Amino acid sequence: MHQQQLGRLKVSKVLDSYMASAGLPVSMIFPDVTHDDMRKLASWCPLPEVTEDPTTSLIALSVHSFVIQLDGQNILVDSCNGNHKTRALDMVDNLETPYLENLAAVGLKPEDIHLVMCTHLHFDHVGWNTRLENGRWVPTFPNARYLFGKRDYEHWSTQEDEAELIHRQAFDDSVLPIVQAGLADIIDTDDPVAVRQEIGNGVWIEPAYGHSPGCVTVSAQADGAPALFWGDIVHHPVQMIRPELTLPFDHDQPTAAKTRLAMLDRIADSDTICFPAHFADPSVGRVLRDGSVYRYQFIDS
Ligand SMILES: [Zn+2]
Repeated sequence: MHQQQLGRLKVSKVLDSYMASAGLPVSMIFPDVTHDDMRKLASWCPLPEVTEDPTTSLIALSVHSFVIQLDGQNILVDSCNGNHKTRALDMVDNLETPYLENLAAVGLKPEDIHLVMCTHLHFDHVGWNTRLENGRWVPTFPNARYLFGKRDYEHWSTQEDEAELIHRQAFDDSVLPIVQAGLADIIDTDDPVAVRQEIGNGVWIEPAYGHSPGCVTVSAQADGAPALFWGDIVHHPVQMIRPELTLPFDHDQPTAAKTRLAMLDRIADSDTICFPAHFADPSVGRVLRDGSVYRYQFIDS
């Protein structure tokens, strides 16, 4: 079980699945990665699928939620892929994962979740918002409010582009049913002060646009080290060495790179504990400065 206690905050990881459990070639996700990058990464990164050769080194993308428990509130950050969803990508089409069993393993039932925060509205961050019941998509967490960023919400409300089909599928089966059930709050993240007040003391979101039109980070702190849930701002530790490396599916690549660099610069060598959405187990760690770039120190719990 992966749990961190940071002052009054408890954070638990709930696994959905590994996208491509056998791993994807790193050069497929990051076409610009070099031999040098991989050699540097392999010198400190303990993940077994990372090697010095970009053509054989693999990436295993973990898809998991983090649950923040603070003063009796249970807040779920990013709701992963979900089950039984039709998706325009084989590796995530019609999944059946033991996510709810994994949630139970950290002592929580779906009814116990008070707030669901999606860092952005990509398919792998909204899926468990709903589950299939008698042929209908119903809220998985019936007692929760769900926070969605306004920019992403508006983007996928009107998006017809075929390249974005998978996110549109997720919007239709995992976001709209929540809005129709009256459980959604659409947040204007261009006004961070208002956002901070809306979510309350100890937990807040900040704009981190680029990877999607309106993606955000979630932060939490209560009498202990700050926790940063950065969603997809950094997908993989290789971006510590080359923060400018972008993904083919970043919405706005230059902005995504700028956002990543600014975030890494802000938290490097601080006591911030990081909770990335896709780093493989043990996922949680700290960002350290390494010359003019960064490295990641995984923390075993
Ligand atoms: Zn993602």
